[in-house]
Order: sequence, then structure tokens, then C-alpha cells
Amino acid sequence: MFTPLTGRTVLVTGGTKGIGKGIARVFVHAGANVVVVGRGTEAGDAAVQELGSRASFVIADVGVAADCERMAAETVERFGGIDVLCANAGVFPDAKLEDMTEADIDAIFATNVKGTMLSVKACMAELERSGHGRVVLTSSITGPITGYPGWCHYGATKAAQLGFLRTAAIELAPKGITINAVMPGNIETEGLDELGPDYRAAMEASIPQKKLGKVEDIGYAALFFATDEAGYITGQTIVVDGGQVLPESPMAMEAM
Ligand code: NAP
Repeated sequence: MFTPLTGRTVLVTGGTKGIGKGIARVFVHAGANVVVVGRGTEAGDAAVQELGSRASFVIADVGVAADCERMAAETVERFGGIDVLCANAGVFPDAKLEDMTEADIDAIFATNVKGTMLSVKACMAELERSGHGRVVLTSSITGPITGYPGWCHYGATKAAQLGFLRTAAIELAPKGITINAVMPGNIETEGLDELGPDYRAAMEASIPQKKLGKVEDIGYAALFFATDEAGYITGQTIVVDGGQVLPESPMAMEAM
């Protein structure tokens, strides 16, 4: 049995939609207070409506240090501290390398890499104060393990998060804070829907379980890393992908 997370406070960046909202829902069901962060008020208010009375919304852009400091301060003001940070906010616009502009590269790094680092930095003191601080990053299989045309910059950001994770784990350990990452495969989200039905069908065909993941599948992995019982695990990753990275070639799928 795991120690209940009742009354703990969880800050989920990018918690207003998609995977982040799924993570938030799992923590609410586990008894935690949850603050969801995003740049849009409409999505933020709708998420809180859906998540219920233990959820709250803070508008912030994780690529801006002052916003990250304010999101941490408002979380403490509303719920008295921060026990868990899920640094999940991310964007995945596509562009082939030959068409990619400097602005495209800067924009994706601002949210996915700088945003991850600034979020952790802003929450560190409160996570230490909790006595059992937990950070869970949302990385990806794309970049650290696989590649996909159009996502050179995205893959670079998702791999960069894991480079950050390994040194941050060492620096955070004396503060009693663990930091780990979930690496999702293809998960059903608003963001993924925008990639269109052909992308979805191709992905389903390439996954041994023949289905996309659900946002809660990522939430359950994040929940495990957040438990007291996972306190001796830090600097680690878990792939949650229905087996997507396993086939050696399309022939491996045809042989099923
Ligand atoms: P999504 O449905 O597009 O949701 C992204 C969330 O992040 C939204 O709440 C968005 O709200 C927020 N966000 C984006 N930029 C932000 C910023 N600069 N500051 C604050 N909030 C920001 O995307 P998703 O599919 O759930 O992806 C979430 C994470 O999972 C990302 O890190 C992504 O790389 C990773 N991932 C997703 C998949 C997948 O299959 N869906 C697979 C692997 C990894 P606003 O737009 O209102 O700010």
C-alpha cells in the first residue's frame, strides 16, 4: 500500500489541457490539491470546472522567470506549500530542418527546456520545505529514443530535459527532493488531435497494443514517482508507450 497523498499540493504546468489535465485529474482523485498552469484563461477556467473544488488555476508562461516565481507564490498562498511539481508544459510545432527558422528553435526551447528549468528553480525552496519534495518531468520517447521528421527541434528539447534531470537530481538530493521523468509515447490529447487523423491512424498501427495512450496513463506514472514509497528513486525515467519503441522494424509488427 502507498501512503495516501491526501492534502498534498501538486502544481502541474500545462495542466489546463491534454496530458497535464490527466495528471491533475489523477492527483485530485488521489486526494491532493492541484494547481494547473497555462497561458489561456478560458482553458484554465474550464479545467478547474472539470477538476472540482480542490483544483485552482494560475495563468503563467513557463518560459518567463517572473511568471514561474508568481505561479509558485500563488500556489503557496492558496494551499500553503508545494509538495509535487509536475513540469509538463510543452509545445510540439513541426518544421523540417531546411524550413526551420531561428525563431522556431528559440520558441520551442523557451517553453520545453527553459520552461522546465525555470519551473523547477521557482519551486525548489517550497519543495525542500515540504520535507518530501517531488518533481516529475514530462519528456517524450521522441528525441531521447526515437525520431520523427519535422521534429528535430522538438526531439532536441525532450532529450535536453533528460540532460537537465540527471544533474538536477544530484543537486536536489541533499534537499530531500527527487526528480524523475515520464516518457510518453503517443497519447490522446487536444495537441495530438491537431496533427490530424492520418497521423493518428499511422501511430495506432505502429504500437504493439494498437491503441494510443490515455492521459491518465501518464498521470499514474507521475503519481507513483510522487509517492513517499518512491522516495529512493531519482534521476530516472519511465517509458509509457504501449510498447511503441519495441519493434525493430515494420516487419516485427507484421509478424504479430
Ligand atoms: P497539449 O494538449 O497541447 O497541452 C499543452 C499544455 O501546456 C496546455 O495546457 C498549454 O496551455 C500548456 N502550455 C504550452 N506552452 C506553455 C507555456 N509556455 N507556459 C505555460 N503553459 C504552456 O499538449 P500535450 O499533448 O498534453 O503535451 C503535454 C506534454 O507532454 C508536453 O511536454 C509534450 O511534449 C509531452 N508529450 C506529449 C505526447 C502526446 O502524445 N500528446 C507525447 C510525448 C510527450 P496554453 O496553450 O493555454 O498555454
